[in-house]
Amino acid sequence: MVDISHFKSRLTKRRGELAKMIATYEQRLDDPKPNDSEDRATASEGDEVMEAQVEAEYAEIKAIDAALSRIDNDVYGICLSCEGPISDERLEAVLHATLCRRCMETA
Ligand SMILES: [Zn+2]
Repeated sequence: MVDISHFKSRLTKRRGELAKMIATYEQRLDDPKPNDSEDRATASEGDEVMEAQVEAEYAEIKAIDAALSRIDNDVYGICLSCEGPISDERLEAVLHATLCRRCMETA
């Protein structure tokens, strides 16, 4: 039996961290760009990296929200494919995992 409250608090905490990181990035993206052209090139390269990171973080938040709603529906830790249990170990590694290891490997 999966310890739901443990994973729920980890998911909530992780979600808070991600939201904070995204807010920090967005603040930086909104900063006025330097006028020197060389600096500007460097800055926009940095922006691209940041944007990719923000996108990944948004994707993770979405996955976490989905996991939290699975907790509400009492299906957290249950494989979407075979409906078998997902091991605690796997959930510890990937909090928002939706497939058990076996299904993931055969997917
Ligand atoms: Zn499965």
